[in-house]
Amino acid sequence: MEIDHVAIVVKDLDAVLRLYTQTLGFREVFREIVYDQGVETVGLEAGESFIELLLPLDESSPIARYRGDAETKLHHTAYRVADIEAKLSELKAAGVRLIDEHPRKGAHGSRIAFLHPKATGGVLIELCQR
Ligand code: ZN
Repeated sequence: MEIDHVAIVVKDLDAVLRLYTQTLGFREVFREIVYDQGVETVGLEAGESFIELLLPLDESSPIARYRGDAETKLHHTAYRVADIEAKLSELKAAGVRLIDEHPRKGAHGSRIAFLHPKATGGVLIELCQR
């Protein structure tokens, strides 16, 4: 599997975007609201992968509480799979605890599913099919 994206939850989207685009030189390739996750997402091109900046829509949501007072905080890593249903079945059969047994809608036309962080040593892992 390759990395599809690294997702970073932010407090001030414009300030972080300036850092990533103007200072670091990344290019913005998509921006949308993902209601399923309660975030505004900006995708930055990083080779064949993306960096996704996530701005919580609701400051009392779990993702905002996870970020807390930090300016930015790594939220999850996403790995690209060709067939997300097949991968989920394979992991479930192997006894891996899942948050999503069925894919849901992600950013930029993707289908995504999260594994349970208790099954992954603490880092939240997402599977992503483009
Ligand atoms: Zn993601």
